Amino acid sequence: MIPEIDARGCIARNMWEGTLAFSFEADASLLDIPFVNFAGPVRAELSYRIAEDNSVEVSGTIAFALQGACSRCLEDASAEIVYDARALFLPGDGDGEAYGYRNGVVSLGEWLRESIMFALPSRLLCKACAQWEKNNSEEV
Ligand SMILES: [Zn+2]
Repeated sequence: MIPEIDARGCIARNMWEGTLAFSFEADASLLDIPFVNFAGPVRAELSYRIAEDNSVEVSGTIAFALQGACSRCLEDASAEIVYDARALFLPGDGDGEAYGYRNGVVSLGEWLRESIMFALPSRLLCKACAQWEKNNSEEV
């Protein structure tokens, strides 16, 4: 379950920063590596800070595991991904760089979805193939 940040409520209580730790199921459609799936939920550890202009800066890490078939040899493979994510939420409409939020409540869903897409590798390699590619690239 992805929590929301009640920015208006925080401001009313004079709380200008806080932390969030939660986990949620990633949308399997985000992942387009053949024969690879999310292994368990995505864990998010975030902190947020509300500025005087009511903009909300959120940063932290999202972490998740992938498991499935190696993209080269189809042997079992897995990976643990940890990604540093950061975003700015502005009251009202967002712009090209910042997200918007309405009615005093910051919804994190769209940003987390996009962060997972940025964090995802283009393929998954088993240990042997990762080592093989490393050796090969060093020879070039
Ligand atoms: Zn492999």
